[in-house]
Order: sequence, then structure tokens, then C-alpha cells
Amino acid sequence: MTNQPQNRRWILRKRPEADITADHLELVTAPVPDLQDDQVLVRNIYLSLDPTHRLWMSDREQYLPPVQVGDVMRGGTLGVVEHSRSDRFQPGDIVKPMVGGWEAYTVADGRMVRPVDRHPEIPLSAYMSVLGSTGITAYFGLLDIGQPQPGETLVVSAAAGAVGSIVGQIGKLKGCRVVGIAGGPEKCRWLTEELGFDGAIDYRNDYVPAALDRLCPDGVDIQFENVGGDIMDAIYSRLNLNGRLSLCGMISRYNDEGVMPGPKDFGRVLMKRLTVKGFIVLDYQKRFPEALEALTGWVTADQLQWKNHVVDGLDNALDGLSLLFSGGNDGKLMVKVSEEP
Ligand code: NDP
Repeated sequence: MTNQPQNRRWILRKRPEADITADHLELVTAPVPDLQDDQVLVRNIYLSLDPTHRLWMSDREQYLPPVQVGDVMRGGTLGVVEHSRSDRFQPGDIVKPMVGGWEAYTVADGRMVRPVDRHPEIPLSAYMSVLGSTGITAYFGLLDIGQPQPGETLVVSAAAGAVGSIVGQIGKLKGCRVVGIAGGPEKCRWLTEELGFDGAIDYRNDYVPAALDRLCPDGVDIQFENVGGDIMDAIYSRLNLNGRLSLCGMISRYNDEGVMPGPKDFGRVLMKRLTVKGFIVLDYQKRFPEALEALTGWVTADQLQWKNHVVDGLDNALDGLSLLFSGGNDGKLMVKVSEEP
């Protein structure tokens, strides 16, 4: 391979103990290595920024090994194959590498790269949100764990976010009464006026327990939890007999050290025969095609809406990540690393 491109990569320099700052990650430039047999060179187009990146930067006990200090920051990307020594891929193929992360180019073994089966009418960026792990998380977290039945009440936290907004819409498609909790009047208006939620609670301005009593007078059947802390507790303490808590995330605690506390009244699990289940989207890897087929069907039938919040340029990735923790993102957060082909 001639004219080797220079790579730009964000390296983890220090583990954060609270909020992420410029001390924790450093953007470095280095040549892209020569391709070995079976490898491909992917020019990354989009980099997904996810709340879990904060967990991966820490060394707390978690579901994947923490990123090691000195390593490139892990993250999901979508890109185009520029060179290939793998018989699985050709230059021009749109792919998602399962290795690499916050970098302009990823070198990967062809077996560690997934092809993107793109629908011609759907924008490429949708494959980083509603048709990426965001949509798949919403799909399995709600349908597999939440088991929604028509007429049941579903409450979603971080409801105007990437995962939450898809959960609420799938809940409506399944005939549930859906109430979302989100920060600020604009996000709440989007939920009720555009997405068809039956109610929205602005946790920054409303008292959540009282608002839940008002909007869910018959209690809550399904809790789709993204936030943790007091918001989680307020919903949980209204769960009905045989209620389900699908624990997807606890973003309000990711910047804290130590354990992530649960609801105060654990006895409610017993008294109300609750099902409480945490999940990681990767648990469902074998069933991804099922979710993608359903999600693509809803998208092409205009039954699902989504928003992307695109940060321009790899240089801005670090500042971009903090938007997730202030609620500054409006939709699925991602970085545009380079132009679409
Ligand atoms: P979002 O697009 O929902 O962005 C995060 C949102 O969380 C912010 O916009 C903000 O919304 C809200 N938020 C942040 N801090 C707080 C806080 N202290 N209190 C209340 N709300 C807060 O991100 P994602 O959709 O990517 O992720 C949502 C959740 O889903 C996260 O917990 C994440 O870890 C989890 N997740 C889990 C997966 C799994 O496999 N289990 C896979 C993907 C995501 P607002 O403006 O409303 O405050």
C-alpha cells in the first residue's frame, strides 16, 4: 500500500474520577500500519458517542474489560473500506468494525468487521442510531424484558434520548400508554406532540413523584430505566403487581465512584412479584437480524422517528461526549469523522 495515510486517534491517558476533562484523553497522530493478510483498512465516517464510554474509561467492575490507559478509546464506528487484503471485503464496502474506536482509520481483521446492509432510501447515519445498537437496545429491552401488552402503562426515563425515544414509540406501536421523563420543555413537547407519547414529565421543572401520580393514576406496568437515582426510584415505587423493570442504564451515576444504589424498597420486588432484569445489547447479538428487520420495517413505513445530534470532526469528540451528561444532546450523539462516500 502506497501513500500511507496518517491516523488520528484519541488515547486514554488517565482514568476519570468524576466528570471527563481534557486530562483524560489525548488526540495523537501516527502513521497507519501496513495491512497484514486478511486485514482491511476502514476510513471511519461516523463515531458513536455513548454514555458507556464513561464506564469503559473507569476500572469499575463492568460488562467488558475497561479500556487500558495508553490504548485508543473504544467506540462504535461506521466507515468505508479503503484497502483490503481480506477476501470478505472490497474497497467501497460500508462496514462497522468491531475493534478500534475514536480514530480516523481502523485496521481490522476481516472477521472483526460487519458489513452494513444499507437500504437505499435510508440515510447512512441512521445505521448509527435507529438502525444501529440504539434501536436494537430499545427493541430487545422493551419487547424481550418489558413484554408490553396493549393497554399497559410504560414509563421511560431519558425518554427524549436516543434509546428512550425509540422505546416509547415501540411502546405506542404495541398499544401501551406511554409516559416519558426528560429534561426541559422542548424535549417534552417533542415527545407528546411529535412522537405521540401520552404524557411527558420535565424532571428539571416538575416534581416527578407527583407528576407520575397525575399521569399514571393506575400505576406503572413497565419501567424502561435509563437514568437511575431518584427518577428510577420514583417510577419503581409505582410499579404494579407483576410489573417489569427493564434496566438499560443508570447514566445519572456514571460520573460517580463506587456502587450504583438501587431503589430503596427492595421488598416491593417480593410484594408485587416484580421482574427486574438488567441487560446489555450485546447479549442479543445472535438476534440482531430480527431487530433490524422489524426496525427497518417501521422506519420505511414512517412509524418510527429519530433524531441524530452530529458533532463535526474527530477533534471535537471529547467535548461532544460531555453533552450526554448535561442533556446537551438532542438525539443520538455521534461524531462525523469524515465525509460519506
Ligand atoms: P441519550 O441520547 O439518552 O443521552 C443521554 C441522556 O441522559 C441525556 O440527553 C439526558 O437527557 C439524560 N441524562 C443525563 N444525565 C442525567 C441525569 N443526571 N439525570 C437525568 N437524566 C440524565 O443516550 P443513549 O440513548 O445512548 O443512552 C441512554 C441510556 O441507555 C444510558 O443509560 C446508556 O448507558 C443506556 N444504554 C444501554 C445499553 C445497553 O446495552 N444496556 C445500550 C445503549 C445505551 P435529558 O436532557 O432528558 O436530561
